[in-house]
Amino acid sequence: YAKSEGRANFRFYSPELNAAALENIKLEQELRGAIGRNELLVFYQPKVDWDGRIVGAEALIRWRHTELGMISPAKFIPLAEQTSLIVEISDWVLEQTCLWVNACHAQGLGPLRISVNLSAVDFKHPELVEKIAAVLTKTGVDPKFIELELTESVAIGNIKACVERMHHLKALGLTLSMDDFGTGFSSLSYLKELPLDVLKIDQSFVRHLESDDSSAAIVRAILALADGLGMETIAEGVETAAQLELLKRHHCGLFQGYLFSRPVPTDEFLSLLQADALRRGAELPAISSS
Ligand code: C2E
Ligand code: MG
Ligand code: MG
Ligand code: MG
Repeated sequence: YAKSEGRANFRFYSPELNAAALENIKLEQELRGAIGRNELLVFYQPKVDWDGRIVGAEALIRWRHTELGMISPAKFIPLAEQTSLIVEISDWVLEQTCLWVNACHAQGLGPLRISVNLSAVDFKHPELVEKIAAVLTKTGVDPKFIELELTESVAIGNIKACVERMHHLKALGLTLSMDDFGTGFSSLSYLKELPLDVLKIDQSFVRHLESDDSSAAIVRAILALADGLGMETIAEGVETAAQLELLKRHHCGLFQGYLFSRPVPTDEFLSLLQADALRRGAELPAISSS
């Protein structure tokens, strides 16, 4: 490729780029063994309602590398997506999440709906629906507690096949959400064809909500759109009380972000749920005595 582009592209072979490419190849090889070595973990980030109560969570993968420490999914998910590794990883995250929802509910905590992220590669896997159905059966989880976060990229290409596939996932009883909404290129005309339950407002709009009028306009438009289409809404990346205030003013349904909690390991998530349950319990007598 570079050769056909002529000599101007000699920079493709600079030592820096070679080193980066080599590092990626090494990382990819290590990722292959990471599941077997128990180096991958699932963290959970709470999703909260208007009262700050935890009503769900998002499963976010972490890789605890023996020498390199924690590696961000932003770094290794794209690598995994270039190979079939992503499919193996996603299957594993989904199963862990189903087991985790069950474990929380078994302790009387919740109810919770927990989401997992699916890459476009996962979504297009020929056996996706059968595989997910098998995990639901194997874990015995009630599918209403599981949500799949898709991105606009799943709709690139064959839109009809995408819509059909989404209907099959809905038929399993799962909730479907559109992640990072507003950053892709989906046209509004086919948004109405997609059987989506939730629109997730991308954190890039939330981040500039206070400082930038156009971000605020986009957030208002997304919330109005979701309302008109009968979809739930959630804002990701909520970091400040002012952002929360503005999102509430525009009737956003749920919130997720560092203001409430970072993604945390299972034991910490359990503590957050227990604290939440205690707070709810403490509120009950006040309500019944009034
Ligand atoms: P995403 O699905 O859009 O997840 C949201 C990202 O924003 C997460 O980054 C989360 O930790 C981060 N975040 C949450 N609240 C805040 C906040 O208040 N401020 C800021 N600055 N960031 C916040 P993370 O965990 O690094 O994941 C990055 C991306 O990697 C995810 O974006 C998702 O696309 C992908 N990913 C993570 N886990 C999985 C997985 O299990 N499967 C797949 N296919 N993709 C995954
Ligand atoms: Mg997500
Ligand atoms: Mg997102
Ligand atoms: Mg994102």
